[in-house]
Amino acid sequence: MSSTVISNIATLVTNDPSLGDGSPLGLIRDAAVVIDGDRVAWTGESSKAPATDNRVDAGGRAALPGFVDSHSHLVFAGDRTEEFNARMSGRAYSAGGIRTTVAATRAATDAELEANLTRYLAEALRQGTTTFETKSGYGLTVADEARALRIAAAHTEEVTYLGAHIVSPDYAEDPAAYVDLVTGEMLDACAPHARWIDVFCEKGAFDGDQARAILTAGKARGLHPRVHANQLSYGPGVQLAVELDAASADHCTHLTDADVDALANSDTVATLLPGAEFSTRAQWPDARRLLDAGATVALSTDCNPGSSFTSSLPFCIALAVRDMGMTPNEAVWSATAGGAAALRRTDLGRLTPGARADLVLLDAPSHVHLAYRPGVPLVSEVWRRGVREVARP
Ligand SMILES: [Zn+2]
Repeated sequence: MSSTVISNIATLVTNDPSLGDGSPLGLIRDAAVVIDGDRVAWTGESSKAPATDNRVDAGGRAALPGFVDSHSHLVFAGDRTEEFNARMSGRAYSAGGIRTTVAATRAATDAELEANLTRYLAEALRQGTTTFETKSGYGLTVADEARALRIAAAHTEEVTYLGAHIVSPDYAEDPAAYVDLVTGEMLDACAPHARWIDVFCEKGAFDGDQARAILTAGKARGLHPRVHANQLSYGPGVQLAVELDAASADHCTHLTDADVDALANSDTVATLLPGAEFSTRAQWPDARRLLDAGATVALSTDCNPGSSFTSSLPFCIALAVRDMGMTPNEAVWSATAGGAAALRRTDLGRLTPGARADLVLLDAPSHVHLAYRPGVPLVSEVWRRGVREVARP
């Protein structure tokens, strides 16, 4: 294994408050990072960097941990351009939303699904995402859910079984039978390929009792819960997530004071997904309220073809700062260390000795530019597991 120092970093985000300026971002000026194999070996001021085999000059750019996108839906086929266009044009659109994607996904070959996934992963990597979670949920049959997870598991460790995305159209007349399938034969087929189990707890999807039954069955099979909670309306999702020690309650758009308190007094991360509110012109989640209460907040893309077709965490950071009351520092923390917390990973989202050597260099002197210069492709280099995978001239 060879060692490499990346020096002459104008501003380094370490996400270790014991370093640098002592803030949650642990900012170090005129910094360097030493990579040994796939791990970070050292971080500090450039002038104090130890000798290494190789040297890379960051040229006064900013560096930060690679983004950790803890919520996406990337195993799908088809496209919902017309639905989006109709919604943004104020026209009614009668096609079936998620059901449209379910039909296209079922009809696709394994190779087509994998090619689509690979394409969006490359797109996300170019924008600085070095870790992503992704879910099933567009198959809704035993075979289609299991193959979605099998395909995802070839690309990430963070795979989530979401057979309970919506009640399968095949069971529209008998939702209870679908819950039995999701907690029975489908779970048996899916559990070997997944780390997590998720449920869309919402009016029109699964109620609190159904969601509890689904998550509890998953836990019994060794899957850990995460929950699509309180996106479209108030409901039991957040409380259920906390009750079951879910790693994350995702969306958190409609919260009571009791929901905010429950999150603040738990290890369940509130994962906010502003791409969904952007793409549906919905009310923004109130990040400020959660942060002021003491909750841990993550930012993720929710990348999916229906309600949030962005793979860009820089875009989500800009939205969170502009519309959700987050400071630039908080938004950057939430898209890196926050995402790692939402996946219960301690080796990601920080640049300190022992962490995975996943980092991003920006064509800017500071991470604040991610919000200050919205829509500008600032990510110029991406290192993953100690290897430079993206290098823009
Ligand atoms: Zn989602």
